Amino acid sequence: MVAKVIDGKAVALKVRAELREQVTSLVERGLRPGLAVIIVGENPASRVYVANKVKACSEVGIASTVHAFPADTEDTIVEGRIRALNQDPSVHGILVQLPLPESFDVRRVLGAISSDKDVDGFHLYNVGGLVVGDTVFPPCTPFGVQKMLEHENIPIEGQNVVVVGASNIVGKPMALMLMQRDATVCICHAKTRDLAQFTILADILVVAAGKPNLILPQMVRTGAVVIDVGINRLPDGRLVGDVDFEGVRQKASYITPVPGGVGPMTVTMLVHNTVQSAARHLSARYH
Ligand code: NAD
Repeated sequence: MVAKVIDGKAVALKVRAELREQVTSLVERGLRPGLAVIIVGENPASRVYVANKVKACSEVGIASTVHAFPADTEDTIVEGRIRALNQDPSVHGILVQLPLPESFDVRRVLGAISSDKDVDGFHLYNVGGLVVGDTVFPPCTPFGVQKMLEHENIPIEGQNVVVVGASNIVGKPMALMLMQRDATVCICHAKTRDLAQFTILADILVVAAGKPNLILPQMVRTGAVVIDVGINRLPDGRLVGDVDFEGVRQKASYITPVPGGVGPMTVTMLVHNTVQSAARHLSARYH
């Protein structure tokens, strides 16, 4: 068996085309969706991510503003800006680009974002919503994975899902979202003993550990769906995921490449969350 390679770029373009139509309709009704992005410090990767988000917004007609602060800014100043943005009716989404400098209390900064503008879905209110299956803003990366599975008509209900990685931004929300869709979910992490004994059971294997070649063909069931969230820069400059792509694609039924898999979907779901937030603000105006 040779896997179908899921083209994340193509799926993302399709979703973005639908979002552009929704934005056009919102603008016709008098509201242009707005996103505010906060970035603190000079992290070059963060700057690239922010530039990508701004570009994706402008492509669908969302107005975005970047609020950049030097690394030595007091966190109260950043929180003050967030509170001002919370009150700004032209802003429907606020995101803080992570990581923040070490001196920052990340939870406090994220907690300052109004939960109805928390388009990254990291505020405790939205995390709690995820746990009870009623979140307003699903976190963008796992939401993007779910969208890809839906796009390929891959069934989720009743499937064995193994998520490798238990971070707050990818692994844990991914597990909760697929459990909400009635999958049987297992989460593995760096302290898991004998990872392969779990991964081999997966009908759908989602890997988000940040370790190149963590998943080898012998760890994957024939016919499994393999979603590689990892992004790793090798010493020779190449970008790879966590899965031995060439080996595993000989066994899986579907596989996502890196780059060009989950990455483009993450930014797209941020755009999606911002558009939905704007639509909710508009309908709230009339109630
Ligand atoms: P993280 O470092 O916060 O968490 C990594 C998780 O993987 C932890 O739970 C850890 O216990 C687990 N892990 C580490 N080594 C392991 C091992 N050997 N076996 C099993 N589990 C192991 O990372 P994160 O923020 O969740 O990101 C994970 C990866 O996904 C990174 O490569 C990151 O760059 C990438 N990522 C990609 C996107 C995207 O849009 N494609 C978005 C976010 C993160």
